Amino acid sequence: MGYQAFTVQDAIERVRTLGLIGNEPVTAEEIGDGNLNLVFRIHAGDQHLILKQALPYAKVVGESWPLSLERAWIEQSALKEFAKVAIPFVPRVYHASKEEAFTVMEDLSHLTIVRAGLLEGEKYPLLAEHIGSYLARTLFYTSDFALGPVAKKQIARQYYNPDLCDITEKLIFTDPFYDAETNAIEAGLEAEVDRVWNDAELKREVAKLEALFITKGDALLHGDLHTGSIFASADETKVIDPEFAFYGPFGFDVGQFIAHLFFAAYPKYDQLREERIKDIDTFWLTFASTFKALWEREAVEPFRSADGLVEDVLSTILQDALGFAGCELIRRTIGLAPVADLEQIADPTVRLERKRHALRLGAALIKRRTECKTFTDLRNFDVTEE
Ligand code: ADP
Ligand code: MG
Ligand code: MG
Ligand code: MG
Repeated sequence: MGYQAFTVQDAIERVRTLGLIGNEPVTAEEIGDGNLNLVFRIHAGDQHLILKQALPYAKVVGESWPLSLERAWIEQSALKEFAKVAIPFVPRVYHASKEEAFTVMEDLSHLTIVRAGLLEGEKYPLLAEHIGSYLARTLFYTSDFALGPVAKKQIARQYYNPDLCDITEKLIFTDPFYDAETNAIEAGLEAEVDRVWNDAELKREVAKLEALFITKGDALLHGDLHTGSIFASADETKVIDPEFAFYGPFGFDVGQFIAHLFFAAYPKYDQLREERIKDIDTFWLTFASTFKALWEREAVEPFRSADGLVEDVLSTILQDALGFAGCELIRRTIGLAPVADLEQIADPTVRLERKRHALRLGAALIKRRTECKTFTDLRNFDVTEE
């Protein structure tokens, strides 16, 4: 059976053949945005399932960008790997097919996608703490510090994900920093964008961050940890969509999440700024304290006993994360794949002002990231008044 993109009927037939649903009447629909993947929601009797299938291309600016189907297998492998160490935060996987590039998983429709929920004023009081704990656990437990050299390399080799890494290198680190075709720059923002493009120091620092992304295989990353990859409610948090998973630097996921908390403040800045900064604070504190506790209990030697090492590792993670957060802020403001947090601001003057702010904040985080030795330094690092 070779690969073919499924219709709704195909999806129903697969889950039935797999014995995941019985002969009850079925309702099913495709609910994905269809840019990279198909997502089918299937209900039969008491059973609620999601079948996600990869498409062999990405639709990009009207064109088609070929993409390896292997990412579906990488995604389900990562979901299983993360579930081993962070089970409350990961959807259950019921079945996966390498050949047909699909995964059947738990339906999380009782939760809401965090980006959409935050835009509607929903509160997720445990989100920051949950993601702090999720990332401390997934990053620590998949790293050399927990696994030692042999087991780490055995896991790491399953996550060779060149096509998706290429997307990140291009769309996050490269295209936004010159006049690339993929960019989407709103009229009125040109002067601010020129400042970015003409800032040699900024571009050098971005190149360093890209090099770090490419070369530093610390841990198994989610790789696409924005608020659209998180389902939550007041008491539950689940992270979906790790198709960009690969062995990369500790700070990358941490930074992406921080960037999207900043974005979430923009629709109603005066009211939401303090709330989101508090979230970033809680997120980092939870991440750092959990990572440190895991290290002190479970790191392999000689790392565990090396006095002060975990503090140094955490301060590097923080600095790298702030740099990656800066790249993400710039990329989502002027690059391909804009965020609703900015685009849905109805008043064009306000929207442009927020976009300008995101670009300045991004540039400052990138250039001044090494000034931050602890998280308190970030709080004192006031780029919000420009
Ligand atoms: P893509 O990689 O194409 O972005 P996602 O995995 O993010 O695909 O899924 C796209 C959309 O499909 C999500 O925003 C959500 O609305 C829906 N979806 C995906 N997984 C689930 C799930 N487990 N339960 C319910 N809805 C889901
Ligand atoms: Mg999508
Ligand atoms: Mg997604
Ligand atoms: Mg995805």
